Amino acid sequence: MKRKEFLKKGLLAGAGVAAVLSACDNKAVVADKEAPNIITNKKYRWKMVTTWPKNFPILGESANLFAKWVNELTGGRIEIKVYGGGELVPALETFETVYIGAAEMGCGCAYYWAGKAPAAQFFGAVPFGMNAAQVSSWLLSGGGLELWQELYAQFNAVPFLGGNTGVQMGGWFNKEINSVKDLTGLKMRLPGLGGRALEKAGGAAVLVAGGDIFTSLERGVIDATEWIGPYHDYLMGFHKIAKYYYTPGWHECGSQLEFIINKKVFDGLPRDLQAAIEAASMRVQAWALPEADAKNGEYLDKMIAEENIQLRSFPQEVLDELRGFSEEAVQDLISDDPFARKVYESYSGFQKKIGKWHALTEKKFYNQIQKVEGEYS
Ligand code: CA
Repeated sequence: MKRKEFLKKGLLAGAGVAAVLSACDNKAVVADKEAPNIITNKKYRWKMVTTWPKNFPILGESANLFAKWVNELTGGRIEIKVYGGGELVPALETFETVYIGAAEMGCGCAYYWAGKAPAAQFFGAVPFGMNAAQVSSWLLSGGGLELWQELYAQFNAVPFLGGNTGVQMGGWFNKEINSVKDLTGLKMRLPGLGGRALEKAGGAAVLVAGGDIFTSLERGVIDATEWIGPYHDYLMGFHKIAKYYYTPGWHECGSQLEFIINKKVFDGLPRDLQAAIEAASMRVQAWALPEADAKNGEYLDKMIAEENIQLRSFPQEVLDELRGFSEEAVQDLISDDPFARKVYESYSGFQKKIGKWHALTEKKFYNQIQKVEGEYS
């Protein structure tokens, strides 16, 4: 089926769901609320579209595991078929495919939807923002998830946590970055607010889905790219076409990944199946970062042992300037969008509080307690 036909069919299916739901009389809704744990044998077959290459380590695996765990938790009542980016629809059309109902659910990262929902970026990655532990804390214990749900409800979608990458690497370059001037004219694959900061620094940010980055870099469509960390970057082969591997990932300090479910589809589920979805989401959230950390540690050594990698750290003055540009990018975003301001106030307030706590503990652990043999610099 061609993509347009697929989307059209989904749109009709979505309208159908809406019509059926609105036609439901209130009695059904009341009965459901009174007996939320009612178990029916109704089977659900869903499509999950994703922004990741099919079966891609950790990201695609998270999507596959979610489908498997939901199937197990529901005794087979929900079957989810996972599609890689571009299989049914282009990777970056995942969000709209879900909210129009052409697929029941999706998997991706919220900053990809910045064009439709600017505030979504706070639920993906914020340059110089919070790390994985802090983001999790904000989402689960600081009101972040409720704001995320409120935002996506405007799009007929429900967000669920889908893992976190941890602090990423700063990216692959074919020249050294010694001052912010070295970013002038640089075309770099850099999503979200980090991309806006790069533009303020005189570069050009290009949004390219994961599966297309290597070719874009190889053909010179872009001069530089970031992706994730040593594990994924090694598998993508960036070390074969770029010389310098920079740290840290100032633009993605703890990128939160997501599952998105069409809201009418989710609201129409019996409560026990909704709970199974929530449980599978939290299991993916608990699985992804430990898996990424373990693999990144292994592949960092492997990459350095096997390949002629030149590791570099961004000079502090470059980071300081990028921090200023990032703050400007955030200000641009929240001055245009009242909901984004509301999310920003929650995010930045939480960041300040948890930052003070972690400065006394985590930071001292890294700086004063943990000794690393053979540390790379
Ligand atoms: Ca990235």
